[in-house]
Amino acid sequence: MCGMANAFEKKLLAWYDENRRILPWRENPTPYGTWLSEIMLQQTRVEAGKAYYLRFMEALPTIEDLAKADEDLCLKLWEGLGYYSRVRNLHKAAKILVEECDGELPHDVKELTKLPGIGEYTASAIASMAFGKKEVAVDGNLLRVYSRLEEDATNIKDPKAKEKCRAFFLKKMDERPGDFNQALMDLGELVCLPNGAPKCDACPLASFCKAHQAKKEQDYPVVEKAKTKKEEGRIVFLLQYQGKIAIRKRPDSGLLASLYEFPNALGDKEESWATNYLKEKGLSFLSLVPLGEAKHVFSHLVWKMKGYRVMLDALPKEGDLLFVTKEELLERYSIPSAFSYYLKSL
Ligand code: SF4
Repeated sequence: MCGMANAFEKKLLAWYDENRRILPWRENPTPYGTWLSEIMLQQTRVEAGKAYYLRFMEALPTIEDLAKADEDLCLKLWEGLGYYSRVRNLHKAAKILVEECDGELPHDVKELTKLPGIGEYTASAIASMAFGKKEVAVDGNLLRVYSRLEEDATNIKDPKAKEKCRAFFLKKMDERPGDFNQALMDLGELVCLPNGAPKCDACPLASFCKAHQAKKEQDYPVVEKAKTKKEEGRIVFLLQYQGKIAIRKRPDSGLLASLYEFPNALGDKEESWATNYLKEKGLSFLSLVPLGEAKHVFSHLVWKMKGYRVMLDALPKEGDLLFVTKEELLERYSIPSAFSYYLKSL
């Protein structure tokens, strides 16, 4: 591109120069200011961050000041922002910079990410905004804008989407990398909105945007929905006979492998179901009392349980049940916490 801004960058930056948000860290930017603002904005809204930024900068205007400061002062200046590890890392990193780099931030993304609290995004933001390096700082805004520009249906949670987004914008980035990133962030915040319809009429990139041309802006980005967990209804039986309680060993593979459990079965909640089930298993009983419902959430599965205390009138003639006293149960057998609600009712 020989130093000439390409049409994409030209339009984007012209829009930015007209419409950019005025933010304290953008006026007379310094590497330290860029760094501080990026760390603050990780979990804080831009509007809320402004006052904190100004206060912090006033109290600790340079990396040296930050390195020398008491941790208590740093924490105090952060009070209300939460996620205090951010300011602790900032403080630690400032000390490292003073000891090892004359109090200067490195210009290079790889070097920057060696500092505590600086990940790839923050490093790219600092390298581009403070040092003019061609680095794309991929955040949610850039991902959204990219997926629409290119009608890219890659799930934006997939690292591949990040790589494609980075490569795409890197090709377009030319004269003002820092402003290029900030322009895309502002565009994402102000025009290419995340919820509801984007304001394509006001968008400088509309002529490049495939989703806009296809009128499918709102089909992008594609975000994989969190999978809903499968629910299983389970009936749990506390089968008791002469002071002993029935347990059985689970299969040696699969969920809760090789642990002991109270006998249970997939089934619905009706008492008649439970009664029939026991009869089918050849278990005769004196009484059957509901013990209430409990829920246990596994990583991909939810058990919705209903329990019954069942007083047997004879030991079963066959089967895999083991009858143990409460003491034996607690001392010798591992009952998974999925059953703890019923264990407590023993
Ligand atoms: S044209 Fe619309 S969808 Fe495309 S980048 Fe601009 S605002 Fe987003």
